[in-house]
Amino acid sequence: MVQRIIPLTILLVLLAACAGPDSAATDPPATVTPTTSAAPTLAADTAVPASPTTAAPTTQATELILTPESLDREFEDDAETQARRETLVSSRVAPVVQDARVIAALRAVPRHSFVPTQHLDLAYNDHPLPIGFGQTISQPSLVAMMTEVLELEPGDRVLEIGTGSGYQAAILREMTDEVYTVEIIPELAALARTVLDRLGYEDIHLDRRDGYYGWVAYAPYDAIIVTAAPDHLPNPLVDQLNADGGRMVIPIGPVGNVQTLWLVTRQGDEVEMTRLLDVRFVPFTRE
Ligand code: SAH
Repeated sequence: MVQRIIPLTILLVLLAACAGPDSAATDPPATVTPTTSAAPTLAADTAVPASPTTAAPTTQATELILTPESLDREFEDDAETQARRETLVSSRVAPVVQDARVIAALRAVPRHSFVPTQHLDLAYNDHPLPIGFGQTISQPSLVAMMTEVLELEPGDRVLEIGTGSGYQAAILREMTDEVYTVEIIPELAALARTVLDRLGYEDIHLDRRDGYYGWVAYAPYDAIIVTAAPDHLPNPLVDQLNADGGRMVIPIGPVGNVQTLWLVTRQGDEVEMTRLLDVRFVPFTRE
């Protein structure tokens, strides 16, 4: 496999040059031309290339009062629901990932509790679903694949950009005990906090902020996962990646079109980018 190593300083300069408005619809810069796929489990035929993780913006109100009555989530996890989860994991997740811990995490987290109750019937389909505010919960097989490439070990510190429903954060918490997650939409951040607390994930650190700047107070991170697609690699996220082998998985590409999912690894001042697969994520927005 051909590996392309780019000195960090050069990479950052080149990427900064791509951050202007004219670059919004361009591919990642030529300097980060991908290696061939490094992850056999992410071969295009097993993945979910460009299947929509976006949904049409909903008309849901932008104000939400978080009382137990208005929390539109189902927390009961009965035998039938567990059986549906098991079917999803065995038929759509286990075939595309090899890490048994990732598979166990998908088995453990009740995805149906992260979706609005009107979509309960679809909670265990391998498909993204609307969560309000024009955002979506990602499809389970993609959540599993992105988690696997982070190669999380217990004790690793991981940062998620784009909390959304909170589902991916809960999966990460099954893999390691230091999970940080940030969400730009206040209502979604509040909802996710409530759901995560109800499910016993009180120790996930969650904040409402523009994740372009990461969460510098707790850097460096052994791993960073970005679940919305910017049109370039944010420099602050590279800066906050552990210089001793930090891993980041991030979709990069034009808004509303197919993007490329990249694995970014850092070793000292060297940053390596590996192209994984084509995906379609909701836009990375800015304050
Ligand atoms: N990981 C989520 C997927 C949510 S979709 C889940 O498991 O449900 C992506 C989320 O990224 C959206 O909620 C969107 O509001 C958020 N987002 C977009 N741009 C962001 C930014 N700059 N900082 C933080 N969150 C952002």
